[in-house]
Amino acid sequence: MKKGIAASKGYAIGKVFLQQHEEIIITDEKITEVAAEKEKLHKALEEARVQIEAIKAKAVESMGEEKAEVFEAHLTLLDDPEFTGAMEIEIDNNTNAMKAVDNVTNTFVAIFESMEDDYMRERAADIKDVSKRIIANLAGKSLEAFSITEENTIVVAHDLTPSDTAQLDKSKVIAFLTNIGGRTSHSAIMARTLEIPAVVGMKDITEAVKNGDMLIVDGIEGVVIINPDEATINEYEAKRESFLKEQEELKRLIDVKTVTKSGKRIEVAGNIGKPEDVHQVLANGADGIGLFRTEFLYMDRDDMPSEEEQYESYKYVLEKMENRPVVIRTLDIGGDKQLSYLPMPVEMNPFLGYRAIRLCLDRKDIFKIQLRALLKASVYGNLKVMFPMISSLEEFLQAKEIVEECKKELKAEGKEYSENIEWGIMVEIPAAAVYADELAKHVDFFSIGTNDLIQYTLAADRMSEKVSYLYNPMHPAVLKLIKMTIDGAHKQGKWVGMCGEMAGDETAIPTLVEYGLDEFSMSASSILMAKQLILEQN
Ligand code: PEP
Ligand code: MG
Repeated sequence: MKKGIAASKGYAIGKVFLQQHEEIIITDEKITEVAAEKEKLHKALEEARVQIEAIKAKAVESMGEEKAEVFEAHLTLLDDPEFTGAMEIEIDNNTNAMKAVDNVTNTFVAIFESMEDDYMRERAADIKDVSKRIIANLAGKSLEAFSITEENTIVVAHDLTPSDTAQLDKSKVIAFLTNIGGRTSHSAIMARTLEIPAVVGMKDITEAVKNGDMLIVDGIEGVVIINPDEATINEYEAKRESFLKEQEELKRLIDVKTVTKSGKRIEVAGNIGKPEDVHQVLANGADGIGLFRTEFLYMDRDDMPSEEEQYESYKYVLEKMENRPVVIRTLDIGGDKQLSYLPMPVEMNPFLGYRAIRLCLDRKDIFKIQLRALLKASVYGNLKVMFPMISSLEEFLQAKEIVEECKKELKAEGKEYSENIEWGIMVEIPAAAVYADELAKHVDFFSIGTNDLIQYTLAADRMSEKVSYLYNPMHPAVLKLIKMTIDGAHKQGKWVGMCGEMAGDETAIPTLVEYGLDEFSMSASSILMAKQLILEQN
């Protein structure tokens, strides 16, 4: 039996298909024919374009337009003059084309991997994927599609790139396993979209199995059993059947309002990063949006999104959610979530530095554009706005003052906005949790950001694998702060939500219900499970 990170739920019993790409050796050899080497590079880039177009077409068919967008990103990368231009500069310095691609890739990957945001970090996988293809083309080797002909196949690979995953034929492939990756890695996201079980981060699964081995994949516990005996197979067949039945049954909760056994109504909402994410949230029966991370609107571009662009995004989400509550968080940038077009000071401790509300209060010009867009969009639905990284009452009051200024301006311009917007804060700094009873007198609601609250409480960087053993949502000190926040708010008659990962954690939900949390917000795929669990609580 081998253990890894459970990335996509479900059980599978089938035979191994070991994906092995031929290794390509990249040398340091210098070249003299610069023009000829550049021509080779351009030919490889063009071949890559044709290959990616083909994969994209196939992906649209198997996974739908939206999921195939990743390949559009790959094509954009091929057109990015910063990316390909850097390769040419390397060749100008007599580096061979393969090495040039490799060097530039390493630089770009390092930048993306150092970003705080999971989504941005995962973009490094796209760069690696595209570059692997260019290098294979330069070497005259093909990154051939899976030629899987047998049903009940379990793909085992060192890593699966988005293009590998898109080529998986769901009628044959019933699960996959990889040596590397985490729950938010690209392959894990794709597995959840394809709804096939997957275990990632298995370290050496490619060494432990060979083609044709029989495997049981348990995507719930993150466990793989190699060449199981008859009794174990029967045991897992039964588990698989009951899991499938359960999934089917969960769908009955799509339209069910979550009420605990003692009669308390609890809202289960979804977290989104892009306006289009509302569709999946709605399909899973969410009561609303509990966190819209607006910083995504500011990323992957060369300039600030205008008031009009932001207004359109917020309006879209509010309209699609048809009067259900939508909590939009104002810009949470800084730390290592950087914007290429916004120079930031270099700091020793960026996570304790110039970021989120601190930056917005300092850069009123940027903040006001977002606030005006939010106010204008507010007439289209049930908007609630929250400010990130609040550590003191003054910050909240200052932010509200700027809101008032924006309202005045809009009024003078004859523009409409709703007077019913609720204004809240994220409780993600321990000071705000300890001070919750005072803060609650001024805000309309709290949303607990456990991702940061845990790291600040336990002084354990949420990104560091080395201290991940300390990063414990159920640490008594963390629980105490959560309880203080909820009690503080309730004393003033205010509601409290949670939008950190802990809200979708099965092991934490019963405790959070017991503490009186009013709203849980999580990724769309966890919503039905959470509804079920909450319905079972007192
Ligand atoms: C949090 O800190 O829990 C949170 C939801 O915000 P983010 O993960 O975007 O920092
Ligand atoms: Mg946070």
